[in-house]
Amino acid sequence: MIKDILDSLQRLYSMDARPWVVGYSGGKDSSMIVSLVYEAVRALPPQKRTKEICVVCTDTRVEIPAVVSRVQDELDHMNACSKKHGLNITAYLLKPPTHQSFWVNILGRGYPPPNRSFRWCTQRLKIDPVSEFIRGKLGHWGEAIIVLGARRSESGSRAQALNSRAKNEFGLRRHDDLPRCWISTPIENLSTFEVWEYLTEHSCPWGGDNQALLQLYKNASGGECPLVVDQSTPSCGNSRFGCWTCTVVERDKASEGLLATGDQRMEALLHFRDILMQYRDPENGFRDMVRKNGQDGPGPLKIEARKELLSKLLALQEESGLPVISEEELHWIQTYWNSARNPDDGTGVANIIFQQKGDTMPDSRDEAELKAIEQRVTNEKGISLETLRRLIAKVEEYSESHRAVGLPDELLQILQDDLRERQTENGETHA
Ligand code: SF4
Repeated sequence: MIKDILDSLQRLYSMDARPWVVGYSGGKDSSMIVSLVYEAVRALPPQKRTKEICVVCTDTRVEIPAVVSRVQDELDHMNACSKKHGLNITAYLLKPPTHQSFWVNILGRGYPPPNRSFRWCTQRLKIDPVSEFIRGKLGHWGEAIIVLGARRSESGSRAQALNSRAKNEFGLRRHDDLPRCWISTPIENLSTFEVWEYLTEHSCPWGGDNQALLQLYKNASGGECPLVVDQSTPSCGNSRFGCWTCTVVERDKASEGLLATGDQRMEALLHFRDILMQYRDPENGFRDMVRKNGQDGPGPLKIEARKELLSKLLALQEESGLPVISEEELHWIQTYWNSARNPDDGTGVANIIFQQKGDTMPDSRDEAELKAIEQRVTNEKGISLETLRRLIAKVEEYSESHRAVGLPDELLQILQDDLRERQTENGETHA
């Protein structure tokens, strides 16, 4: 069976010059598919190893620590092995841009921690970085083939997703969102037992340690969170290795398993995940009762709740010694607080850091000059100072992320909040 898969990979490789993108998550299925690709390419004569192959892995910036260090080591070994044997394979670790990180979305924008019905994270943290990478490459590639370790027996939904898309004569399916990309799933019919059999009986081609992978699975007693390339595969947030912050699952069995087998770092992280669950529940009073679009209903986390959570997160970072949030993320959080409902005066994050550590955060803005301009504009336009600050902050936020789509709607929403506020003050009904 393995020989058949290797033969089919070599046929696909030699068929044309289309580059490959191979998904790797550090889990068993993707470890197997990357191993098979290495084996297949190495078995070709050196002059035929011309296809460009990119192994891509996403780091959501909130990955389980034991997985992060293992994955980085594996990628380094893959690159070294490719160089040594002239395989033309390069491994990349992709991350979401800082302004889309988990903490910037929760603490900055006030998104509630994700659940099954509002799982905003997979697209931003996992799918977008891969799509961006592929789109960037497609310009000169033209077309690409994405090779994935998806398997039918992994779950009913995975089998359904594989069955729902027809294959062409070369066993390729069209990618849902990237029109010039095709998907190949060479191990889709293997059982979990066969995957482990391959991994434990074959040495890893780049010198990685499959026994360590097996041990990680035993300790975590969970499945894997594979590389996600589109929304058609319900891939993560299902008791699998994923983000340690994942609130899509009721219990994070992978993290609990790691703690039970001695990874003490998971204790504080699991406790923080419980805190996130409490902040998500509208019953606990941490959420605005007006949605972002102005409709009544549970909306974003209140600004006070975001501040409390940031304070707790910084305490976790201090106590655990783990790098849970970066300085760049803190700057983005302040940027979003400046345009939030009930915005602070632009010093909220710096004050929390000061209370926690006695440090200050560098800030280059000239507050006095800004205040004079604010005064003049609020008088001229008849809007509140808070509204003006939110409008300015919103424009800054968009300009820092180099985008404009959606800005007019967001500015309009801030002006509607201003109107709603005035109507409430005057005892008028909301129009
Ligand atoms: S593992 Fe959980 S938190 Fe992370 S992207 Fe998937 S669903 Fe979201």
